[in-house]
Amino acid sequence: MNKSIAVLAGDGIGPEITRGAIEVLKVVGERYGHKFEFHQGLIGGAAIDQTGTPLPEETLNICKKSDAILLGAVGGPKWDKNQSHLRPETGLLQLRKKLELYANLRPVQVFKSLRDASPIRADLIQDVDLMIVRELTGGLYFGTPKGRSIQNGVETAVDTLFYEKSEMERIVKKAFELAQSRSKKVTSVDKANVLESSRMWREVAENVSKEFPDVKLEHMLVDNAAMQLIRDPKQFDVVVTENMFGDILSDEASMLTGSLGMLPSASLSMSGLHLYEPIHGSAPDIAGAGKANPIATILSVAMMLRMSFNMDKEAEAVERAVNDVLDAGFRTADIADGEKCITTNEMIHEIKAEIAGTGMISSIMAIYA
Ligand code: NAD
Repeated sequence: MNKSIAVLAGDGIGPEITRGAIEVLKVVGERYGHKFEFHQGLIGGAAIDQTGTPLPEETLNICKKSDAILLGAVGGPKWDKNQSHLRPETGLLQLRKKLELYANLRPVQVFKSLRDASPIRADLIQDVDLMIVRELTGGLYFGTPKGRSIQNGVETAVDTLFYEKSEMERIVKKAFELAQSRSKKVTSVDKANVLESSRMWREVAENVSKEFPDVKLEHMLVDNAAMQLIRDPKQFDVVVTENMFGDILSDEASMLTGSLGMLPSASLSMSGLHLYEPIHGSAPDIAGAGKANPIATILSVAMMLRMSFNMDKEAEAVERAVNDVLDAGFRTADIADGEKCITTNEMIHEIKAEIAGTGMISSIMAIYA
C-alpha cells in the first residue's frame, strides 16, 4: 500500500520525536511491503519564525492532500509573550478547527513492566485500560467572546464555554460506539451542578445512550472524576468529556502509565482525515538533550496504522515492539526511576530493531524457537 503522511514536527522536542516516528514507519514499510511518503509542514513557533503565522496555508494544503497527519508538539517560552493570534498553540487550535478534528481519543494503558514507574501504587494501576474521549473543537478553547479589556477602569478577561448541541451529540456518540467494542461502559464527565453547558451535556448523554442499550452510562462530576482516577482507575472504561476537562484529566491519567511521554492520541474528523500526536507538549526544558521519551509518538503512529490505514498487524507489531523493549528494561529518563537510562535515539533504535526482527529480544526468541 502507498500512503502519504503530513508531518508537522513543531517546536521543542517535536522534531526529535517525529523523526523517531518516521524512522519506525519506514521500518514497518520495509517489513510489511508498504510505501510511506512524508511531507513536512511548518506549525507553531517554527512557522511563526519562518512565515509570520502559526498555521501557514501551505501546511493546511499539505495536510489536506495527505492520508493522515502526524504532529509533534508546539509552543515554548520564546513565543509565550506573543499576542494570541501569534502564539504557537493558536496554530494547533486552528488546524483542529479547520479540519474538524472533533474527537480526541486518548488511550491509557499501563505496561506491565512500568508498573513501578508510576507514582500510584502498583496494585491500583495493574490492568488499567481506559480510553479518554475528549471533545476537541468546542468549549472554552474556541468560544467567543474571548479576550481582555478595561471596563470602567477595571481590567477584565473573558473566555466562553460554548457548545452547539450537535457538537455534544457527535462526540458522545463516538464514545458509545467505542464502548461497544470495549467493556460497554461510558462515564460522562461534566460539572452539571454548576455549569449550564454541562447540564445540556448530561441531557445529550442520556438521549444518545437510548441508541446504545447494550452500553451502561454513568455520570460523574469532573472534580470527583479527578479524584476517582487516582483512587480506583480500574473502574473506568470509556470516559467522555468536553475539551478542557479532557485536557486536564488525560494529563492526570498519564501518571498512571508513569509519564506524559507514554500517552498517544488520535484526533478523528468526520471527513476521514485524522491527526495523530502525543498528548504531551513541546517540553522545552529537555528539548535537544536526548531525554525525550519517543514512545507516546511511536504509539500514536500505531494508532495511525490501525485507524487510518486499517493495518492491524502492523500496528500490533509496533505496540509489541514497545512492550518488548520496555520488558527488556530499556528506559528513557522520565520512566527510569533512578535506573540507568538510554537516550531518545537509543530508544528509537531499540524499537526499530524489534520491529525489524533484529533486536535483542527477537534474537533471543529466535534461538529458543
Ligand atoms: P509539556 O507536556 O511540554 O511538559 C510537561 C513536563 O513533562 C515537562 O517536565 C517535560 O519535560 C515532561 N515531558 C513532556 N513530554 C515528555 C516526553 N516525551 N518525554 C519526557 N518528558 C516529557 O507541558 P508544559 O511544560 O506545560 O508546556 C510546554 C509547552 O508545550 C507550552 O508552550 C505549552 O503551551 C505547549 N503544549 C503543547 C501541546 C501540544 O502541542 N499538543 C500540549 C501541551 C502543551
